Amino acid sequence: MKTYGILGKSISYSLSPYMHRAAFKAAGIEADYQIFDKTESQLDGFFSDLRKGVILGCNVTIPYKEKAVLYVDKYADEVKSIGALNTIVNRNGRLEGCNTDYFGFRDALTGKARGDLGFEPRGKNVFLFGAGGAAKAIVFSLTRKGHSAKKIIIADVEVEKARTLADSFVKNEKPDTLISVAEDRKQYEEFVSKSDLLINATPCGMKKDDDPLFDYRYMHYKLYVFDLIYSVESSLLKEAKTRAKKAVGGINMLLRQAVYAFSYWVENMDKNVIEHAMRDALMDNIRI
Ligand code: NAP
Repeated sequence: MKTYGILGKSISYSLSPYMHRAAFKAAGIEADYQIFDKTESQLDGFFSDLRKGVILGCNVTIPYKEKAVLYVDKYADEVKSIGALNTIVNRNGRLEGCNTDYFGFRDALTGKARGDLGFEPRGKNVFLFGAGGAAKAIVFSLTRKGHSAKKIIIADVEVEKARTLADSFVKNEKPDTLISVAEDRKQYEEFVSKSDLLINATPCGMKKDDDPLFDYRYMHYKLYVFDLIYSVESSLLKEAKTRAKKAVGGINMLLRQAVYAFSYWVENMDKNVIEHAMRDALMDNIRI
């Protein structure tokens, strides 16, 4: 039996097994997809199994997306810029990695299918909450040549983290996009009111009693809102559905990153069939 899975820590909540098991079934491949819940001291052993082919491929999630880069022999261009990967495959004993969060975000942002935002970032002003792993993939996406936003303002509870993300992108990628940082709530609200797109790439909103990221009254009727949270309808998303032009949660991004990951392991499969199977499995098992 071929073995795949997801590597992370305290990840029993993961929806990836449902999606990938359904995809293997739809592709007619006999394979098992497991949760590899590992501590840091177990990582060497895990990657040794991956290299030996005991495990043929894996997804990587919190908190190992950055660390996993050190274990692979080769990685795709986006991994270098983002500094993190979320998918690994064993190709003839060599480990190769890519970041499908980037592709998933890009497609869910610009796509026209149900649940996509249908937003073209070129020349637009973007306000981004969060400076963690997902935010890096988002900044990478919003600074691609031909699609680059005019300006990205980053806000994080740790202002220094937002500044590091902004500075490293400006220094290493030399984007056409202006990237800067919002330091306090007053600035958040000023920038939100001037933005075309607002993105939440923080976990804030997953719990019912989370404080709002900002005063929702500053959202305006031309604003597009993308909340990466997929497990609940956050208060931001609820408010945005009435106050903003269009708002979506993170389900389509989650789905698309999984489809890209699957196609990294299994070549020449029908993407539509896989996406369909994964979407059904996701919707059957998500509690939203
Ligand atoms: P992460 O690496 O932990 O980054 C989250 C960042 O947000 C951290 O820097 C955190 O600061 C900051 N933060 C937390 N609360 C905040 C607040 N109230 N205001 C401003 N900043 C705040 O996590 P991640 O991997 O980037 O994921 C972020 C969110 O995106 C999670 O909800 C995750 O489930 C979601 N996500 C969704 C998808 C999808 O496919 N839909 C993919 C990836 C991630 P501290 O470190 O100080 O807490």
